[in-house]
Amino acid sequence: MIDKVDWNLTEIFYEIFQAKPELYARAPGRVNILGEHVDYNQGVVLPMAIDREVTILARKNTQPICRLFAVDLNEEIEFSLRDLDQKKDLNGKPFPRWALYPAGVAKVLQQKGYDLDGIEAAFQSTIPIGSGLSSSAALEVGFAMVWSALGGWKEDSIRLAQDCQQAENEYVGVSCGLLDQFSSVCGVRDHVLFFDIRNLEWQALKFFENMQIVIVDSKVERSLTSSQYNQRRETCEQAVKLLQKFKPEIESLRDLSPIEFAAYSEYLPEEIRKRATHIVKEIARVFSAVSALQHSDFRSFGALMYASHYSLRDDYEVSHPNLDYLVDQAHAIPGCFGAKLTGAGFGGCTVNIVTQEQSEQFMKKLHQAYWRKYKVEPSIFSVQASQGASWRRI
Ligand code: ADP
Ligand code: MG
Repeated sequence: MIDKVDWNLTEIFYEIFQAKPELYARAPGRVNILGEHVDYNQGVVLPMAIDREVTILARKNTQPICRLFAVDLNEEIEFSLRDLDQKKDLNGKPFPRWALYPAGVAKVLQQKGYDLDGIEAAFQSTIPIGSGLSSSAALEVGFAMVWSALGGWKEDSIRLAQDCQQAENEYVGVSCGLLDQFSSVCGVRDHVLFFDIRNLEWQALKFFENMQIVIVDSKVERSLTSSQYNQRRETCEQAVKLLQKFKPEIESLRDLSPIEFAAYSEYLPEEIRKRATHIVKEIARVFSAVSALQHSDFRSFGALMYASHYSLRDDYEVSHPNLDYLVDQAHAIPGCFGAKLTGAGFGGCTVNIVTQEQSEQFMKKLHQAYWRKYKVEPSIFSVQASQGASWRRI
C-alpha cells in the first residue's frame, strides 16, 4: 500500500538520485506496554509494534558507496562500505549521529559475512524522534531490510534483531537491550508480543478488542538518559552479585521469584534493594498481565500498568514529574484503565489503555489538563498494533 507520504518520498527520491527506486522497506516503532527495564535482566516484556514507522526507498549503487538522504532532517551523506570503522563520510567529515544507525547495521552485517551492496536511499519516519518509541531501532531494522532484500538473503527474525541491537550497542554506542529491535522485526497486527529474553521465545497475543492504546508524548526531553540507564544496569548487576552469596545458582534477577527475593532483599543496601525490587516484581507483573489478557480482564491488566508506573517512579526512580502528572490525570479520566511511562523514562511518553468509545474524550481532557499545568502542548495519539518490518520491490 503506497500512501501519500510514500508518494512524496518517491518524488524526493527521484529529485535527489535522478532515478527510480527499486525497493520499498518499512520498519515500525514500538510501544512497550509492560516490562520496563527488564530486557537487560533476562526478563519478559510485552511490547507491540505500532503504526508509526520508518519508510525507506532504495536502489542498488554500482559502487560500494551509500548515498543516504534523511528527509526529516534534510541531510544527505555519502560514505564508503569499505572503511566503516572510520565513521567518516567521503569528504572525511565525521558522521552525523543519524548516519551511525544505517552504517552500524552495515558494519555488523559485514562482520556476519554478508557482502553488502552500495545503496542510494531516501527515508522518512512518522515515529517521534527521541521519545521512547524506538525511532532508532526502526531505522536500523529498516536498513537491515534494505540490505537483506537487495542481497537476496533472509536471516532468522531474532538474529536480524540481534544484529541491529549489536549495531546500536557497538557502533552507535548505546547499550540498549533487545526489546526495541525485536518489536520492530516481529510485530503482529492487532497483537501484543510476549517475549522472553532469556530463551528468546516469543508469542503474539491478541490485544483487548474494545481497548484503544493511546500514547502521550510529554515533550520532556530525556536528559542524562544514557548515563542513568547505564547506572541502572550496573546496579542490577551488583544486586545479582550480592544475591549470589545466598543463591549462587542465579545468573540474573530473572532467576528469583518475588517470594525468593523477599527472603534475601533485606541484606541488600537500600538503593540496590529498591532497583532490584522493581525488576523482580515487574517481571512477575508481565506474567500476570499475560494471564489477564488471556481472560479478557482489562481491569487487572490496567492495574498492573499503574503498578508498573509507581514502581518505576518510586523504586527504579526513572520517572519524571510530568510523566507522573500524566499518569495521575489519566487515572482520573473515565474510560482509562491503565497508564504508565513507556521506554527508558526520564521523559518521553506514557502509554494508556482506554475504552474505544471514550478515547476521543480522554485525549481531549488529558491534553487540556497538561496544557493547563505546564503550558506545553503534549502530542497525543492513538496507535494500532502493526505488522513487523517488511519490504517489497517496486
Ligand atoms: P528513540 O527513543 O526515538 O529510539 P534514540 O535516542 O534512541 O530515541 O534515537 C533517536 C536518534 O535516531 C536520533 O537522534 C537520530 O539520530 C535517529 N533518528 C531517528 N529517527 C530519525 C529520522 N526520521 N531521521 C533521521 N534520524 C533519525
Ligand atoms: Mg532508541
